[in-house]
Amino acid sequence: MQSDRTALAIHGGAGTIRPEDMVPDRVEAFHAGLRAALLAGHRVLATGGPAIDAVTAAVMALEDDELFNAGRGAVVTSGAEQEMDAAVMAGAGRAGAVAGIRGPRNPVLAARAVMERSDHVLLAGPGALAFCRAQGLVFEDDAYFETAARRAALDAVLAERARGGTVDDFDRHGTVGAVARDRTGALAAATSTGGMTGKMPGRIGDTPVFGAGTWADATCAVSATGHGESFIRMAAAHEISARMRLAGQGLEQAAADVVAEVGRVGGGGGLVAVDRDGRVAMPFNTRGMYRGAIGADGIVRTGIYAEALREHATTEEAIP
Ligand code: ASP
Repeated sequence: MQSDRTALAIHGGAGTIRPEDMVPDRVEAFHAGLRAALLAGHRVLATGGPAIDAVTAAVMALEDDELFNAGRGAVVTSGAEQEMDAAVMAGAGRAGAVAGIRGPRNPVLAARAVMERSDHVLLAGPGALAFCRAQGLVFEDDAYFETAARRAALDAVLAERARGGTVDDFDRHGTVGAVARDRTGALAAATSTGGMTGKMPGRIGDTPVFGAGTWADATCAVSATGHGESFIRMAAAHEISARMRLAGQGLEQAAADVVAEVGRVGGGGGLVAVDRDGRVAMPFNTRGMYRGAIGADGIVRTGIYAEALREHATTEEAIP
């Protein structure tokens, strides 16, 4: 395997909208959003940049796209407000995260600021916002982040709860994330989310909890999406690394087994993962997961449901 090989994989959330609600225009918009994020990250890797910059660029593109549940277009709590979580990890224990914030245009940049410019790993709430302001991050007002679609999703969840029904996972959650291996073999992961529609105010999911929804070390990098409480209870992202290091499992097997186990405890979801050789795994136990990757062949691949991945123009043609 080539030592300078790069790899990038992203997700835009598991628990996709029902296939019957997925009109063709929406399908195209999701594929286009995933492709744009992959190209943003790949541009960094192709020019010799570090994995942490690649995952940050990919996640920023998804945060800026209101179709995905992070940054602009994040889902809302039962109190109809947005509370966002984000995390980055660059291996060797370098990690930063924020929880329960709204204001910074790109929560992933807030997580990076925590990693690079504070003595801490995780900042939450008002203190996190004060830190972000002091660091000069770009802020946006509520109107930038909120969308009518997320408000309608909350109304649907609240109406279903009032009827005493159970809310299925379709359209309730999401999250965006990226994992990468750069030319030097360094690995990184980034994850960003609005959490779950109708979540209790103050609830924090797996995204900013290292080892649960986000992890990167010298063995693998992992970014998860799905029912956060289940991923936290299982330390799911770290479990993949542990199985590889201690039980000798390969990336694909370890990732598939952990996602299946999360499913067995009732947690719908999935993840993207990359190992130090640039292998990629993208398992999920839901009907779909917005996802994509650029592998050794340089072809951009994206998918939504459990169908064959769609192939786009090669990165060589697509990148000027
Ligand atoms: N994992 C996220 C959370 O629990 C939500 C999701 O990925 O759907 O906050």
